[in-house]
Amino acid sequence: MRSLMGPFGTIIEKNYITHDPQRSDVVIQENMAASKNAITNIPDYEYTDVNTNIFHIDSFRTEWLNRLQPGDFSFQSEDQDSSDALFAEEMGISADTMAELKTVCSLDSLRCHPEDQPPDPDVVPPDPTLNTLIQRKKKQDYRATLKISKNRHDLYADELERLTFGKKPETLDDMVAEGEIILNINVYYPAIFEKFCYVRPHITVLMMGSHTLAELRDAICCVSDLQVCGEFSNMPDMAPDFISKDHFKSAFFYFEGVFYNDMRYPECQDTSITTIEWAKDRNFPTYTQAKMEDTRFVDLKIKVGFPYLYCHQGDCEHLVIITDVRLTHKDDCLDKKLYPLLAHKHRVSTQKCAVCHVYIVRWVTTNDQFAPSNPCLFCDKCFRMLHFDTEGNKLGEFQAFPYVDRGAFN
Ligand SMILES: [Zn+2]
Ligand SMILES: [Zn+2]
Repeated sequence: MRSLMGPFGTIIEKNYITHDPQRSDVVIQENMAASKNAITNIPDYEYTDVNTNIFHIDSFRTEWLNRLQPGDFSFQSEDQDSSDALFAEEMGISADTMAELKTVCSLDSLRCHPEDQPPDPDVVPPDPTLNTLIQRKKKQDYRATLKISKNRHDLYADELERLTFGKKPETLDDMVAEGEIILNINVYYPAIFEKFCYVRPHITVLMMGSHTLAELRDAICCVSDLQVCGEFSNMPDMAPDFISKDHFKSAFFYFEGVFYNDMRYPECQDTSITTIEWAKDRNFPTYTQAKMEDTRFVDLKIKVGFPYLYCHQGDCEHLVIITDVRLTHKDDCLDKKLYPLLAHKHRVSTQKCAVCHVYIVRWVTTNDQFAPSNPCLFCDKCFRMLHFDTEGNKLGEFQAFPYVDRGAFN
């Protein structure tokens, strides 16, 4: 089953919970029959361990929902007694044995502290023999040798996970629907640095099938959207008014022969037409167009594991790879408002100010009589203190350009 449904292992583990051992064989046979058929919405590998065949996301979801029992993808916790009874029946044991097993294997019987004292989860008993405790002790000892226990990136990542794992919304309206699709989407940084060809830095966002491509676009944070073009030594306060994102709003995604353009604003242009016409002149297969704001993920036909494209600011090109498509599970974050959910973000180190060496760089100056180097990098505070008087008048000669540090958005 794995070899057939590799990229969807998660779905099988999470959602293919059946009490009928025969049933999974039936599904395999059905899948095999379907994969022989050219038109199928059950993804099979096109290239083993690389990417799947093309399939329609909503039809794939329907295939799953038809095969599952409502209880398999329900967010309600199973009734403990009936699930125990079912387990006992499947294992062929009596109710008494089941009750005994539950007591012996219960968490309460796993103790390494005296029965009359409350447990302290941070204390590992001396000379542990349990392997998990030995490993834990090793880890604790190692951590004690470190000067800094966690940097801000780890703390932030931990916090994010803690806030979203299994999170239930405050109101029912914000509840993710049962049977909703969740997609794992990796958006890669443009390979503008040689090393990016090898390390593949990316962000991972979780999106629901009902999200539009425009919502994915808004969830992608890229420094080229935040660049400010121009020289601002006479009016540094004006710089935020010239952010690229506000001036150049066109962008497109490319999935399976279709360019999905962002047409939400009057200033948006169809930037994909150049490629489409170029391809037409050279007898490439014809490409079509659609609007990203009108296209939901469930409407897409895609290959899982296959590199697609997101292009914005004219030529800032990001590979987009959908790595998983699955049904929601009750342990997922079920608060709609928290989606698109950032699950991973690549860390980049930040450039520090040449003067204070503390704050992140905001300005780069050239031909600067006050600077120790040309060009020179400054934080906002040092830049203003050094180059302007108390009234904000420019002192001396220099050119100043806003600098956007990609590490500032970690
Ligand atoms: Zn970009
Ligand atoms: Zn500084």
